[in-house]
Amino acid sequence: MSQSSQLFEQAKTVIPGGVNSPVRAFNGVGGSPLFIDKANGAYIYDVDGKDYIDYVGSWGPMVLGHNDDRIKQAVLAAVENGLSFGAPTAIEVEMAEKVRQLVPSMEQVRMVSSGTEATMSAIRLARGYTGRDKIVKFEGCYHGHADSLLVKAGSGALTLGQPSSPGIPADFAKHTLTASFNDLASVEALFDQYGDEIACIIVEPVAGNMNCIPPNADFLSGLRTICDKTGALLIIDEVMTGFRVALGGAQAHYNVVPDLTTLGKVIGGGMPVGAFGGKKAVMDYIAPTGPVYQAGTLSGNPVAMSAGLAALNALCEPGVYQRLSEKTEYLAKGLKQAADEAGIPLAINYVGGMFGFFFTAEEKITRYEQVTQCDIERFKKFYHLMLEQGVYLAPSAYEAGFLSLAHSQKDLDKTIAAAAHCFKAL
Ligand code: PMP
Repeated sequence: MSQSSQLFEQAKTVIPGGVNSPVRAFNGVGGSPLFIDKANGAYIYDVDGKDYIDYVGSWGPMVLGHNDDRIKQAVLAAVENGLSFGAPTAIEVEMAEKVRQLVPSMEQVRMVSSGTEATMSAIRLARGYTGRDKIVKFEGCYHGHADSLLVKAGSGALTLGQPSSPGIPADFAKHTLTASFNDLASVEALFDQYGDEIACIIVEPVAGNMNCIPPNADFLSGLRTICDKTGALLIIDEVMTGFRVALGGAQAHYNVVPDLTTLGKVIGGGMPVGAFGGKKAVMDYIAPTGPVYQAGTLSGNPVAMSAGLAALNALCEPGVYQRLSEKTEYLAKGLKQAADEAGIPLAINYVGGMFGFFFTAEEKITRYEQVTQCDIERFKKFYHLMLEQGVYLAPSAYEAGFLSLAHSQKDLDKTIAAAAHCFKAL
């Protein structure tokens, strides 16, 4: 039995399901998860001493690659001065200014400690600011596990949301309305029915929690127009896409200006950080300036801010996003070619440092229902074959893949060669 398997058995006796976040348990692909010992550059190393080219990157934040020396040095220097003060620090101001400089729609920024906190707080603010209760989200998009957002569509179009987990009161979930990603008509229909009750639309600008689905050309601008017409706020959830698809996030890449933005993962450089921000007039509604309550003992933690700021400074170097995009494109095209040569139908989406592949005969994947119709069994088989070849992909057909600047040409070629081998074995 491997060390990972042994640890997993032991973990299950003290941690629910053996993990501190469900997708880590390999439920999406079967088998026992790898327990990780360390990571460096493009590689992670498990407790059995095996190394893998990593396309999870801690689910997104490792844009620079693992264990980047600039981030490590910043963290070590910050630790020298103490871990947490619960009082304002200069580095929080520097961080907020940096975020505003890179994402100009975020005129004011409030730091939190996770993506979930960021979206939960942004939704409360949107409700408080507009005085409306309902929100619109999209099927297949994930925004963390706050009660308002862990809601699925009711049966049939235009019905009120239903809890997607026990523990969320139906009375609460009914305020969440669900539309279809890349389908403006489905959003317009909700606004026709509930327009003056809707506080906000929250959207992943590139959906990364149903594999990887970029927005259609008019989708995000269409949401902006609907919000302008109805007084609802547009929240762009860039927890995954911020500083990953472009320096200014997906909103810069697709040229759309939200009222509020949520960030996470990447701005922590690997430490637990999230943020929300937007128009000053809206952010003024947050306590202590305004009446909408929001707080956090460890918010703006100095060690986390140091890591995040070091990451953002490194990402500001010229050419970073061009290099990242070129690497992603090279990998995507290589995987597609290898699949074609093996006679395996495969569709690929990619933007910036994000990608997704789908076992399907359809040419283009733009909708959630298409994702649900892909060959999941084939994905599971491919997943384990790739693992054997030393390539660590996200253990679910519903997650995006992430590249880093540390992935070398050699790493990408090795990955494509491994995939070619695995496609033939399918
Ligand atoms: N929003 C998006 C778009 C996400 O992808 C995630 C997490 N993957 C979250 C919010 C929640 O972030 P966290 O896991 O840090 O709470």
